[in-house]
Amino acid sequence: MSEACPVCRSALDPREGRGRPAAYCSHTCRRTAEFTIRRLARRIDAGELELREVERGFDRWGRAYHDEDDRRARVRALRSWVKKDTQKLRELLGQPTKNTSKTAAI
Ligand SMILES: [Zn+2]
Repeated sequence: MSEACPVCRSALDPREGRGRPAAYCSHTCRRTAEFTIRRLARRIDAGELELREVERGFDRWGRAYHDEDDRRARVRALRSWVKKDTQKLRELLGQPTKNTSKTAAI
């Protein structure tokens, strides 16, 4: 686990005594993380749902794509958003990703 708060990146006080080390620096950051986790989860769900439709050739309103370039661009954008959101989610949940330290911004 990292020693910085995943929300604001300030250093976490080393926990004295026993117990799980603190995951966030403050109550505010914990609440912010909870809110952001729910928001990211909804966005990932929506993105994956649309991605499945677009891969089948339909937009999010169920209309068929007529322009293959548009459709491909949307697939790329959706994949990229879902990937980034998933990475943020993992950071907030305290699961180190492969190149953690630099990716903060929520
Ligand atoms: Zn914090």
